Amino acid sequence: MKKIGVFVCHCGRNISATVNIDNVVKKIKKYPGVSFCTDNKYMCSDPGQDLIKKAIKEKKLGSVVIAACSPSLHEVTFRNNSVKAGLNPYLTEIANIREQCSWVHTNIEEATKKAINIIESIIEKIKLNESLSPVKVKVNPKVLVIGAGIAGIQTSLDVANAGHKVILIERSPSIGGRMAQLSETFPTLDCSQCILTPKMVEVSQHKNISLYTFSELEEISGNVGNFKVKIKKKASCVDNTKCTGCGICSEKCPVSVDSEFDEGLGKRKAIYSPFPQAVPNKPVIDKENCTFFLKDGKCGVCKIVCPFEAIDFNQKDEIIEKEVGAVIVATGYELYPMKNIKEYGAGKYPDVINGLQFERLLSASGPTEGEIHRPSDNKIPKRVAFISCVGSRDPEHHLPYCSKICCMYMVKHAFLYKEHVPDGEAIVFSIDTRTSGKDYEEFFTRAKEEGNILYIRGKPARIIKQGNELVIWCINTLTGKQLRVKCDMVVLSMAIVPSSGALQLAKELRIQTNSFGFFSEAHPKLRPVESLVPGFYLAGTAQSPKDIPDTVSQASGAAAKVLTLLSSDEISHSPIIATVNEELCSGCGICVETCPYDAREMDEERQIATVKEILCEGCGACISACPSGASQQRNLTDDQINNMIKVILQ
Ligand code: FAD
Ligand code: SF4
Ligand code: SF4
Repeated sequence: MKKIGVFVCHCGRNISATVNIDNVVKKIKKYPGVSFCTDNKYMCSDPGQDLIKKAIKEKKLGSVVIAACSPSLHEVTFRNNSVKAGLNPYLTEIANIREQCSWVHTNIEEATKKAINIIESIIEKIKLNESLSPVKVKVNPKVLVIGAGIAGIQTSLDVANAGHKVILIERSPSIGGRMAQLSETFPTLDCSQCILTPKMVEVSQHKNISLYTFSELEEISGNVGNFKVKIKKKASCVDNTKCTGCGICSEKCPVSVDSEFDEGLGKRKAIYSPFPQAVPNKPVIDKENCTFFLKDGKCGVCKIVCPFEAIDFNQKDEIIEKEVGAVIVATGYELYPMKNIKEYGAGKYPDVINGLQFERLLSASGPTEGEIHRPSDNKIPKRVAFISCVGSRDPEHHLPYCSKICCMYMVKHAFLYKEHVPDGEAIVFSIDTRTSGKDYEEFFTRAKEEGNILYIRGKPARIIKQGNELVIWCINTLTGKQLRVKCDMVVLSMAIVPSSGALQLAKELRIQTNSFGFFSEAHPKLRPVESLVPGFYLAGTAQSPKDIPDTVSQASGAAAKVLTLLSSDEISHSPIIATVNEELCSGCGICVETCPYDAREMDEERQIATVKEILCEGCGACISACPSGASQQRNLTDDQINNMIKVILQ
């Protein structure tokens, strides 16, 4: 049998104030199987670690128990220390006598008894521990990025600039996402497209980035390091190798529909490129509105006028198969649907618009070329109300969370309105204004003072239409007065929700979302850019509402994490994972359904369950679910657990 050494830590007075260390050492020295036991004030200190190494070598210890703080803190420290003394790391275990004992008790006698009990149970466990080696798997150095807003663009550029190949897929005809729709950006008021389009061009020309627009993920299989993906590239009915982007087809196309890019305030054709700086700047045919497809081959004007014979009505959707090592999800956000805000007549009154529609009115490339015209009659609105938190922070009727960016874009909107219409009145209705980013409070103060904007504290109850005017019903919560405010146009700072299709995508990727559909990070503070499933990373507003600086930081963070993963040819994974005893497995498949990490699969031929080792997180769910006792966890088998329980109960 392996010789066991036990090292008891005082942790200053964290443990020794409640646990009588001398008594512990005396008792443990006599425990069957223990050949050496000692104590130290701080086992994790250099002298403490040296003491352990020396004992391993001199006493020829075969395994080590450290009685100290939680394994989540120093397990790695002590295992690495044992490796330096020539021991397999998995033959070192921690007995937690701090969080599970000294910190939660006051009676020294009882706490000492419990500490001894905890240590004895870990000695029983380690008696049956095996030497283990990490699970290793080769890594494919390519990366898939889903979504090409500023998050997807930034993360792709960071990964590609580090020398790795990136496959970037975007479901709309152009990259750029929401940022391409914005006019100027708070707090500096730079022109959004001016700072975005150079990055869009860089993506399209980067030798390490393969860009697939009008494309979505169709299927994914495999594990971290080795995913197989199928990408569906929708037929654009335009041969991009021939098309020069001259735009004649769009000009001549007789079908005009609401432009998604202009948020329904402008028109586009059935063959269209969403905006002048689109990347790629090649049109696509919207089959749902194209007369050729709706009326069985009638029309075809674009084909006739195209000087380069680039129109191909027979083009079919294409499935492209790729292999990648990691996936970054950057699918962004949408606004909470206007139709849900019936109390403000949103979606019913044309002059009640949302923030993105106002961005398009402000934008020089927008439907009014930067002039503020109200949608109902194209007149310049002389009094505009801006309402914050529409749909946000309203658990009773809408969404409970704060959408984080709306306060700031509302401040920006009121300020820019006054710049465009200096003799107009801007009235802001808000519960409060949250300005938590760098230079945001300064921008808010400047906008309020320079813009001469009236702030009213309170959330309007209703908006009704009277003739050509809108009347806002509100209580000023500072004065308690009931107000009826007439205005020409209302801009709603709508809540932010995940992109449509985010839930289906999460299901396909088998990664978690929160209850509102935002992709969940592995840990809210310590692992904010990783998902819970190895190999999947998160960037931008797909994870939670964010402004551009936070989106870009998170995108670079996700890229850095991916680059860490790709920094070696192989990845290692803890070997403390589930195993299957093939003789006992009945092939019931319960473990496959139970595993939250998709780490179980059936070997259909042999009718037994198997473990995808690289995916197993050793959570133990399958082991407790297995009715035939075939599933066991390495170094935490049923025998080990039974022996530990026996010693605790004796
Ligand atoms: P998005 O821009 O939404 O990009 C996501 C991309 O993913 C889209 O192109 C989408 O088509 C694509 N996609 C979605 N699902 C899929 C899928 N399944 N497959 C493939 N592609 C997919 N921030 C500031 O800092 N300053 C401002 O002044 C400012 N003004 C704003 C004004 C308004 C009215 C609003 C609503 C927001 C404003 N913001 C501002 C916030 C800013 O828009 C966001 O921080 C930023 O756009 C987030 O970028 P993203 O890449 O995470 O998401
Ligand atoms: Fe491309 Fe032909 Fe249309 Fe010109 S007319 S944009 S070449 S498809
Ligand atoms: Fe427009 Fe006609 Fe071409 Fe369809 S076929 S995109 S309707 S021009």
